[in-house]
Order: sequence, then C-alpha cells, then structure tokens
Amino acid sequence: MAEEARYNEDLSIHNQWDEICNQLKMEFGVTAFDSWLKPLSVSSFDNGVMRICAPTAFMKNWVIAHYSDRIHKIWEHKNPDIRQVEFIVENTTSRDLLDKIKSSPKPHSFYGPRTFNSPLAQNDDAWITKLNPAYTFENFVVGKTNEFAYAAAHKVAESRGVSFNPLFLYSGVGLGKTHLLHAIAQYIQQNDPNRHVLYMSAEQFLYKFVNALRYKDTAAFKEQFRAVDVLMIDDVQFLANKEKTQDEFFYTFNSLMEGGRQIILSADKSPNDLDGIENRLKSRLNSGLVADIMPTDFDLRLGILHKKAEQLGIALPQNVAEFLAQKIASNIRELEGSLKRIAAHSQLLSGREITLDMTQDVLKDMLRSIDRKTTIDEIQKKVAEYFNISVKEMQSSRRARNVARPRQIAMYLAKQLTSRSLPEIGRKFDRDHTTVMHAVRKVEELVLEDTSMAESIEALRRTLEN
Ligand code: ADP
Ligand code: MG
Repeated sequence: MAEEARYNEDLSIHNQWDEICNQLKMEFGVTAFDSWLKPLSVSSFDNGVMRICAPTAFMKNWVIAHYSDRIHKIWEHKNPDIRQVEFIVENTTSRDLLDKIKSSPKPHSFYGPRTFNSPLAQNDDAWITKLNPAYTFENFVVGKTNEFAYAAAHKVAESRGVSFNPLFLYSGVGLGKTHLLHAIAQYIQQNDPNRHVLYMSAEQFLYKFVNALRYKDTAAFKEQFRAVDVLMIDDVQFLANKEKTQDEFFYTFNSLMEGGRQIILSADKSPNDLDGIENRLKSRLNSGLVADIMPTDFDLRLGILHKKAEQLGIALPQNVAEFLAQKIASNIRELEGSLKRIAAHSQLLSGREITLDMTQDVLKDMLRSIDRKTTIDEIQKKVAEYFNISVKEMQSSRRARNVARPRQIAMYLAKQLTSRSLPEIGRKFDRDHTTVMHAVRKVEELVLEDTSMAESIEALRRTLEN
C-alpha cells in the first residue's frame, strides 16, 4: 500500500511539473521552451531530491547553466518538500510513455510494418511471437475446471473497450493459459482489427529490455508499447527476482492502465503466491480479475481427446479414449502428445485400427513412467539404507567416498527414474545442477567398468520400481 501512495505521489509530482512547464513557457517564450525545456521530464523524487532528466548531456548542461535556478525557485514555491533539483541524462522516462499513450492516435499495427527507426527495434522482429492459429476459442474445450477462465477470457476479447483490467490467468503447466491468450488475440484481430494487440512472453519482455539497456535504447523499447491497445504478457513468473525488469514492467503496466488500455497476463501461480515478485507489482496484478484453470478432470480430458481425434482425422474408440483419460491426467499437452503418437502410428501402418492393445504398445514408455511414481525422497531413503548411511549424511556436504558415492548413485537414479530436471534434483541434495550432471556421468562410467556397481544399481532400481 505504501507503493500505492508512492505512485499517487509520483502522479502529483508529474502534474506539478506540467504546471511549472506552463509557467516556464510564459517566462522564456515558446522557442526557448520547445528547444530546452520541453524535452525534460521528471525522473524521480526521493527524500526531497527531485531528479529531472534531459535526453543528452549537452542539453543537461545548458539547462543547468540557464534555467535551473528558476526551475528550483518555482518548484520550491509549489512544493516545500522539494529541497534540491538535480539534472540527469536519460533517454526516455515512463512519464514520456504515459504521455505518448494518452495522446497517441491509432498508429501502425504491431503485427504490421514497423516504423521504428531504432536498430534495436528492427533487429527485434525475430522476437515477435507468431500466434498459433490452432489456439482459438472454438478449439478450446470447456469443462468445469476451466469454464471460469474461459468465460473471463472470452468476455475480455468481446468487449470493445476495457473490461476486467488486468485479467490475470494462472494454472499449472499445459492447462491452456497460452491457448486462451492466443485465442483472445486472434479474436480481437478478427473482430476488431483496429485494436492493436501485443502478445509476448515475459521472457521476451525481459530479453528485449535487457537488450535495450545494453544498447542504451530504452526509448525504442518504450516506444513499442505506445500504440498498444491490448498488452498480453505470458508467463509472468519469469520476471521473478529480475528487479530492474520488474520496475520497467511496473511502469509499462501503469502507463497502459492509465491510458485506458487492456492488460492480460498469465503465470503459473496466483499473484500472491508468485515468489520473487515485488509487492507493489503483486498488488497491481491482483487489482483486476484473477482467474485460475484447475487441473483437468476426467470428463474434460475425455472431451479434449475426442475433439483432438476429430481434428487429427482418426477414429478413437471410446475404450481407448477412457483409458487415456484415466492414465494421462497430468496435463493437456501430454494428453495431446499421446494421441498424436497413436495417430502417427496408425497412419504409418496405413490406417491400422486403433485398439487398446495397440495404444498400450505404442505408449509403453510413457505409461511406464506414469505408473512409476518414484520420488526423489524415496530414492534417497532406499539408497541410504542400501549403503547403510543416513539420509542426512547423503544431503550433507561431506565428501568422504562412503558418502559421496551413494549420493552420486541416488542422483543418477533420480535422473533415471523421475522426470525431475537437474536443478530440481540438485536442490534435493543441496547441490547445483552441474554436480548432478557430473554424478550422472560418473555413475554411467562406473556401471560400465564395475560389475558389482552395476548389480547394486540394478538391485536398487528393482526395489524402487517394485
Ligand atoms: P499452458 O500455457 O497453460 O502451459 P497451453 O496453453 O500451452 O498451456 O496448453 C497446452 C496444450 O494443451 C496446447 O496444445 C493447447 O492447445 C492444449 N489445451 C489446453 N487446454 C485446452 C482445452 N481446454 N481444450 C483444448 N486444448 C487445450
Ligand atoms: Mg504457456
């Protein structure tokens, strides 16, 4: 909430600056004002120190020499909190962006020809995400677990102005967030082509911003948001612990909201649960409508399978659909993947009929890994028991061979028997991913060289797999 107050304070400072500008214009005349003072903008206000930024060092020095005393006087008079006025150099400020947004007519489409002159913006085209034409509302199967998110997304797409703002969608992986975001974008492009939609992942936002900083071209970075009516940022969790980028995102967000533009976001957790995201940003993310997509239920999975089978042009018997819907419950991407494998198999064998046997055969690796619910905890426990050490020792920093070797074996088995990533495995052992990678390689070598080692590992694998 302090952040909220601060934001309001920022706004009132900006208003004061506008008034000061009017006065300076009267005092110094339009020509001088336009040349030297108009390009200035408020950068920050902290502890009584007001920072005004100029676009170039030359301009800054000129302003200091000719106008700073007067600016200081007028400002002191308006706002006694201001003790000092400093001038700095910066390309563009968020204030500029806000002004541009407020006054922008309806310029070019984001997906159309780019009109930026910045080399950064031009080289950036590779980063424009293509919308997936299959990700439409028509292709989205609605069930109990996603109907709310679907309704919210549809509503935002339909409304010609701004509706829930921001709309924040969240769910675990592969449950349809990106699909819904693309669906909104494509719906608007078709039904309201004058509205300019910009979709990007938070990673792209980050990448572009970091590049802008590197090439000292934040003006071009900000420029791209000016014409946007609907901004969509997918996977906001990628901004975790990226403070500078979050600040920039915060300002972009506020500027667009102020300018009456629609914002739509997605993440893997609710705003409150996002780790490494600043509180002021969380509270903004929470300020509109938050909708989650829950894990799928059996009926939805069945519905999706039938819909996708139809699209793939395959005949999917009910018992096979039910089998898959039962087995592959984790996410929709995997469900789709399994169906595609079956379809490909059937087509390769010139339309071989899809049966339950054939399905089990084609998907045997996948099904085995689903059946096998071995966890890293369990692996640590069993391996520690086998080598007669404690789990504590296994996770400790001790490097003695009688502890280090079992630790490496446990890491190796975790990689083999679970779908956890190297960093995830590493965390369980209080190590980083390179240590895990090294352990996996080491054990692979040992298995080849040392038959008793190979036998131990086989024995462990059998007990873990039951
Ligand atoms: P997320 O962004 O949440 O990780 P995606 O939107 O990428 O998930 O969805 C993963 C896959 O599942 C995509 O191919 C998408 O089309 C499909 N999918 C997700 N939800 C549905 C749904 N309700 N109906 C049809 N397909 C869906
Ligand atoms: Mg996604």
